[in-house]
Amino acid sequence: MSMSQNHMAEFEQACRAQGLKVTHQRVEVYKAIHKASDHPSVEDIYAIVKKRIPSISLDTVYRTVDTFEKLGLVSRFQAPDGRYRFDTNVEAHQHLVCANCGKIEDIHWSGLEQLTVPRVTGWSDLALASVEIRGLCQDCRRG
Ligand SMILES: [Zn+2]
Ligand SMILES: [Zn+2]
Repeated sequence: MSMSQNHMAEFEQACRAQGLKVTHQRVEVYKAIHKASDHPSVEDIYAIVKKRIPSISLDTVYRTVDTFEKLGLVSRFQAPDGRYRFDTNVEAHQHLVCANCGKIEDIHWSGLEQLTVPRVTGWSDLALASVEIRGLCQDCRRG
């Protein structure tokens, strides 16, 4: 079994555990996010899924990713261009963001895990969630 098949099986299991029906549309939307691996926006996801399910609407894709996020199946973050981007990596991780073209890559920065969050009066359960590191990607450095 490939990693990808394994991942899909985990996704279907997670859906069932949360009482979410595993529909063809949901599977295709999830697959699109996972395969793209470049943190696609809803519009990007829609463009990919539309090739497989021509009748799907942008609105359905919006609602589907929203449901996934609420159930913790995908993570959402706002890119510097203001658009929301989606990721099937729901573990705490950091992002490298190209300040020029907006390319986003995952990075695991062990130094961050050693940081401790401050104690803030009136707040509880504070944890480091997502950190963005900006710079220039390889393509933009060349150009
Ligand atoms: Zn770039
Ligand atoms: Zn990510």
